[in-house]
Amino acid sequence: PMANMQQHKTPMPEQAPAVRAKNFDEVACGYTESDARTEAARCLQCKHKPCVKGCPVGVDIPGFIAKIAEGDDAGAIACIKQTNALPAVCGRVCPQESQCERLCVRGIKGEPVAIGRLERYAADTAMAADTTPVVEQPTPNGRRVAVVGAGPAGLTCAGTLAAQGFDVTIFEALHKPGGVLVYGIPEFRLPKAIVQREIDALIAVGVKLETNCVVGRTVSIDELFDEGFEAVFIGSGAGLPNFMKIPGEQLNGVFSANEFLTRVNLMKAYEDTSRTPLHRGRRVCVVGGGNVAMDAARSALRLGADSVTIVYRRTEAELPARLEEVHHAHEEGVQFHFLTSPTAVLGDDKGWVTGLQCEQMELGEPDASGRRRPVRVENSAFTIDCDSVIMAIGTSPNRLISETTPGLDTNKWGCLVTVNEQGLTTKQNVYAGGDAVTGAATVILAMGAGREAAKALAED
Ligand code: FAD
Ligand code: SF4
Ligand code: SF4
Repeated sequence: PMANMQQHKTPMPEQAPAVRAKNFDEVACGYTESDARTEAARCLQCKHKPCVKGCPVGVDIPGFIAKIAEGDDAGAIACIKQTNALPAVCGRVCPQESQCERLCVRGIKGEPVAIGRLERYAADTAMAADTTPVVEQPTPNGRRVAVVGAGPAGLTCAGTLAAQGFDVTIFEALHKPGGVLVYGIPEFRLPKAIVQREIDALIAVGVKLETNCVVGRTVSIDELFDEGFEAVFIGSGAGLPNFMKIPGEQLNGVFSANEFLTRVNLMKAYEDTSRTPLHRGRRVCVVGGGNVAMDAARSALRLGADSVTIVYRRTEAELPARLEEVHHAHEEGVQFHFLTSPTAVLGDDKGWVTGLQCEQMELGEPDASGRRRPVRVENSAFTIDCDSVIMAIGTSPNRLISETTPGLDTNKWGCLVTVNEQGLTTKQNVYAGGDAVTGAATVILAMGAGREAAKALAED
């Protein structure tokens, strides 16, 4: 077929902003078959595959896009699944603009090929048609590995090892597998039914799953070795919320984004029948600028808040959230206070939040991360009236495992220290990867780390 030289991505149908701001259904509806063929024809099939270098798991991007262009959707998903076990998830939540699509040559003059949308299309089509390739049960090799945490890192490590005949058991603290994919990222961005199907397929290779098991409390890492596991992979994430340590953070109506989103997602607090209803703020302030902040703000809006304001200390250009989420938040009516830093949460005499005291910032010299450091403007204090404040200023790994495992070193942020690229920790036969090592990062980086550790274990 002829290349499509259109400079813009083929648009993806979406729910209208005014409609979707009142429901929890998925915002982006996905490409139709004809959208997908049209967009696939924008790919130039570059010999050197620059886009692939931007994908942490090395998906054969031109390979699967060629299949879509030819009308071979089953071939497209088979190609993706060689390196990515969760394409319906990644097609939706990868920060494509800073990964694969950033290096796409079509992006030099115009917009890059919509790689994420096409990946999603391939995964969704296969799911709908049930053409997901049947997994062959591997021959057992007699080796047992324990995996801690059923997030993207642990699931990928477990799935990769099980496919090679390892006897793998995942120990998960919660009652469901998925990690942040199920309790963090909201339904309107990543439908839970889709996550469940991809996870089921991954586990179907023969992975054993023990839920409601908190490693470090129910069982220790050393006890796992005593039980006969020859190695352990730790993919326990970074679920401990950070707070600002400003006055008033203990007031009623202040939440961590983590707690707020977990209640919304896992306990379905948005359904009226829910037995764990949420304090629904009328005027909500969300502090932070990442995906977590956008998700909290847009969830608060959907729960019926009159106004939702994001308070961020840098400018719009520095927002770490995915571009698409920022754009969607704007469209839905989330307000932004940029160059603003909270100094105190204000409350009434009954202990309920009444406002967020802030000061104005300006950008100074670049800091260690290369971003310009926000500095406070003298005498610029002001108050935003609100009855609820959600803190989304980052998370750290929980220290439960490191504190109960002799020989497992952490850095000053509580992240597990690894000594090589495969994720070997300072303790023999213990590997780690994902947010537990890097601090809060991305789904695909966690998956890449899980796969690297699995490779190392298989080669041992
Ligand atoms: P997690 O997903 O955190 O999984 C860790 C698992 O380990 C959990 O299931 C946990 O219950 C379990 N666990 C923890 N401690 C123990 C223990 N002691 N014993 C047993 N089990 C334990 N990334 C993107 O790429 N795109 C996005 O759009 C995006 N949006 C996000 C939105 C939100 C609200 C959040 C919170 C994160 C978002 N991220 C996004 C980040 C991404 O979700 C994480 O980087 C990724 O999930 C990390 O995977 P992981 O496997 O390392 O950890
Ligand atoms: Fe791009 Fe993520 Fe898909 Fe890789 S997995 S091709 S980075 S969307
Ligand atoms: Fe296609 Fe862009 Fe990759 Fe080239 S860089 S192969 S145009 S997706």
